[in-house]
Amino acid sequence: MTPSRIDHALKRRRRSRRDLAAQIGVADKTVERWIKGTSEPGDENLEKMAAALDFPVDFFSGRPLEEIDHTKPSFRARRSSKRLLEAASQSAAIAFEVERALTEDLGFELPMLNLPEIPDACLDDPELAALRVRDHWGLRDRPIRRVVGVLELNGIRVFSLPADMVEGKVSAFCVENANGTPFILLNTRDATSGERTRFDASHELGHIILHRHRERIGPHDESEADRFAAAFLMPRSSIMEVAPRAEPSIASLSTLKRRWGVSVAALARRFFDLDVFSDRQYRRICIELSRYGRRREPNPIPGEPSRLLPKIVEALRQDEGGLSTLSALSLLHDEELDEYLFGLTMLPVTRGGGRPPDGPEFPPGEPKLSLVGSGS
Ligand SMILES: [Zn+2]
Repeated sequence: MTPSRIDHALKRRRRSRRDLAAQIGVADKTVERWIKGTSEPGDENLEKMAAALDFPVDFFSGRPLEEIDHTKPSFRARRSSKRLLEAASQSAAIAFEVERALTEDLGFELPMLNLPEIPDACLDDPELAALRVRDHWGLRDRPIRRVVGVLELNGIRVFSLPADMVEGKVSAFCVENANGTPFILLNTRDATSGERTRFDASHELGHIILHRHRERIGPHDESEADRFAAAFLMPRSSIMEVAPRAEPSIASLSTLKRRWGVSVAALARRFFDLDVFSDRQYRRICIELSRYGRRREPNPIPGEPSRLLPKIVEALRQDEGGLSTLSALSLLHDEELDEYLFGLTMLPVTRGGGRPPDGPEFPPGEPKLSLVGSGS
């Protein structure tokens, strides 16, 4: 029994101690004692607790999970309740465990972290920092076909956010594990928001590059991360080559946006920031877009899949029971594990594998991904 895991499970499920005690029919103090480690639940109560919190019984005897202070990750949803942010932080602690099971227990060799040295002078300049990263990763100034794939290849772990976090309006965040490996948890649920996933992933990359050593991330850092994301996805030199000469419209931007894999709003904002669009032109596009509907994106691109996880899932599938071994080692129910793995384990493996049926044809810009040797 690992008492701290009860506390983690409660936070992850956004439940109070009192609530749990009432559900399984014990006194509040009894649960307090279990968490303090001064007494242990018997088999029957352990099973009740596991069922109430929707974790396997074994979850409660795993090694202690990493403690993540909920003020540490790069949440944008600052106004969200403490409970929601704590739950999201716990979901990251669980993602750490999944990665640990993959690497330490199953012997997968995941890409090593490969970040450029950013001189201090560049840390205040998101545009320059984004160029440095592109340069270091051999992306030159072309559109990036797979943002998630590029991050994975360069040693940043990307997992999908569980559904209840997405419903709670947490869209993406990053946090480092004790080994200093950055993790990004992303909303990948909305299959028609590839632009959003790509921008969110690039925004989190901005935090990793610019704010890794910060104690806390503030509102100013959010706009820096946005500027980094825009420069990373749409480098000045190449985006200027295609800048519209005529009066811009949603229709003309809709074609261009697909090439860069960004939203019309992000593209228009980039042109405005680069002084291609006047104040009036930019404002007009924004008004047109809001008429179009806040939640609709013109000429949308499909959601962006992981490139690494389908290979891992495929390798596990080759092994009889490989996927259940991973859930068992991560001490999670199969369904919960699936939530972190882009929903790949419950479906035929082709789903996240190749390019989505109507995937955007971004020109190849990133190095080829040739990874994951399974040591087992
Ligand atoms: Zn942010």
